[in-house]
Amino acid sequence: MKGPVIVGAGPAGCAAAIVLARENVQPLLIDRDAEAGDPLCGGFHSWRTIRTLEGLGIDIAALQAAPVRRVVLFARDERAELTLPSPAFGLSRHRLDSALRRRAEESGVRIAIDTIRSVEPGAALGRNRRYEADGLFLATGKHDVRGETRPRVAADPALGLRLRVPADAFLRQLIGEGIELHLFDGGYAGIVLQDGGFANICLALKKSLFEQANKDPLELLAMLSGRHPRFAERLRDGWREQRIDSIGAVPYGWIAGDTEDGLYRLGDQAAVIPSLAGEGISIALASGTMAARHWLANGPAGSRGYQAAFAARARRPVGFARAARALAEHPSRAIAGIRAGRAFPPAFRLLMHLTRID
Ligand SMILES: Cc1cc2nc3c(=O)[nH]c(=O)nc-3n(C[C@H](O)[C@H](O)[C@H](O)COP(=O)(O)OP(=O)(O)OC[C@H]3O[C@@H](n4cnc5c(N)ncnc54)[C@H](O)[C@@H]3O)c2cc1C
Repeated sequence: MKGPVIVGAGPAGCAAAIVLARENVQPLLIDRDAEAGDPLCGGFHSWRTIRTLEGLGIDIAALQAAPVRRVVLFARDERAELTLPSPAFGLSRHRLDSALRRRAEESGVRIAIDTIRSVEPGAALGRNRRYEADGLFLATGKHDVRGETRPRVAADPALGLRLRVPADAFLRQLIGEGIELHLFDGGYAGIVLQDGGFANICLALKKSLFEQANKDPLELLAMLSGRHPRFAERLRDGWREQRIDSIGAVPYGWIAGDTEDGLYRLGDQAAVIPSLAGEGISIALASGTMAARHWLANGPAGSRGYQAAFAARARRPVGFARAARALAEHPSRAIAGIRAGRAFPPAFRLLMHLTRID
């Protein structure tokens, strides 16, 4: 008997699978990797993410996540420190995604390992075989499958870089229970402590900045640390020995307003919130949960209704996150924003609230 097929076992795909399985539907969850990977991510998990995870049966604190209670902003010589509206956490994606997969399996979800090359109404075409589906959930995140490519419209698109440095006593003291956002001309670096004794350093930067550094991540990081002493201080001495992950052309701000019959688009395939807001995983979980509920109510025929409803829900947080990004990437605006945040913290907290998904 055919059931729904979910392509991608990241946060969005696992959330959909868990909600379906709870209602005694047996989805097939397909991922190209046998084990949860460690996708490039800032690893900041907002209070909304935590609440949705709890609803799915995952206690993030039990995964040895590092508590995060404040955000610290840096731009040139300016610094502002603000308490988060509710506590958040720093946790590696490997640990979070592994827990989500485990939870899906415990709920009775079958997981198949295959790389899906394309999808068509009622089927996913994998490297190993063809999967007939009573409704398809596309949750491949940052990676598009053939024929379903998201538009890349930005003239100077964003790219992501991530490295981890061992959190020695100095760094632990410096960062503590904070998420640091270092705002540069053309991007930012987010720094947070995570499980395993590391500080996760994740940057989202305009491609033009990368080109200034001859498209060499080492040269880029050296350039940024030369320009920004406080960022350099956090990289510590051994950063050149660390592995650097990268991802290109992130379509920040894109929202899928429509879809095809029988195809539910989830997570980054539904809406890409600028990462500065730290709400991408929350959006992924919310879309997975909502899509599953639409499928339970309407089957494959519910896809268009779901997509329109989710787009409407994502518009406010994505819109405010785009505005925040436009402020943050421009030095004089970032400095003015930091001064305003320091002088009037409630306005900053309101912005944090407006960039969360309901
Ligand atoms: C620089 C940067 C920093 C970020 N920092 C944060 C942050 O701090 N906090 C936050 O909340 N969000 C952050 N985000 C956003 C967050 O990473 C994403 O929104 C989130 O991962 C989306 O989840 P997803 O389930 O849609 O996709 P993903 O997490 O990308 O998962 C997709 C899954 O699909 C699988 N897959 C892909 N292609 C195929 C295929 N063809 N066949 C089979 N399987 C496939 C992959 O193996 C993977 O398991 C950041 C994003 C960027 C770019």
